[in-house]
Amino acid sequence: MLNIVLFGPPGAGKGTQSQHLVDTYNLIHLSTGDIFRRNIKEGTELGKLAQSYMNEGKLVPDEVTIQMLKAELLEVDDAPGFIFDGFPRTEAQAVALDNLLKEMNTSITAMIALEVPEEELKMRLAERAKTSGRSDDADPAVIQKRIDVYNAETLPVKGYYERSGKYKGINGVGTIEDVTRRLIEVINTLS
Ligand code: ADP
Repeated sequence: MLNIVLFGPPGAGKGTQSQHLVDTYNLIHLSTGDIFRRNIKEGTELGKLAQSYMNEGKLVPDEVTIQMLKAELLEVDDAPGFIFDGFPRTEAQAVALDNLLKEMNTSITAMIALEVPEEELKMRLAERAKTSGRSDDADPAVIQKRIDVYNAETLPVKGYYERSGKYKGINGVGTIEDVTRRLIEVINTLS
């Protein structure tokens, strides 16, 4: 199986690039942000809980997020592989993901990070706010909070994958096609 963690700050392009990789490699795309937003739309208990954190730009607690991802993973059988988008966002989530995949007799192949400078992220998120309908994109204070939370809580996850030799960083600035090409180049070097 090819199991990729697509990593990067809010607005780095993880969702957009995941779509392209799904088409190229026939992978299953698991985006925790999308799953939370689906739950909010459907008015589930999970959605109500998640919304209070998301509106403030904070992370949803690990136990809740890990349980949710586990349930999603167990629903899939016969997958050629996964793209994890927006997960893991903490070291505890990274450990949990390793354990879950181990139970499925597989493992993470690589973490690929989209590297984008902070000023560019803020511009992209403000632009996305015009069409995404996402309240967490519309408020500059919430955008700043998400970037701060990323730097404080999520960046250490990079070290976790570096220690196991699975971290690959690529330049996330350029056209969508440029970035997709860089991603494919890296993925094609993975065994
Ligand atoms: P972005 O990467 O643009 O911030 P996402 O759609 O990935 O957007 O996530 C939106 C929000 O959902 C996050 O700000 C956070 O509140 C919540 N969220 C998503 N994934 C996780 C996760 N793995 N752990 C905790 N909270 C999460």
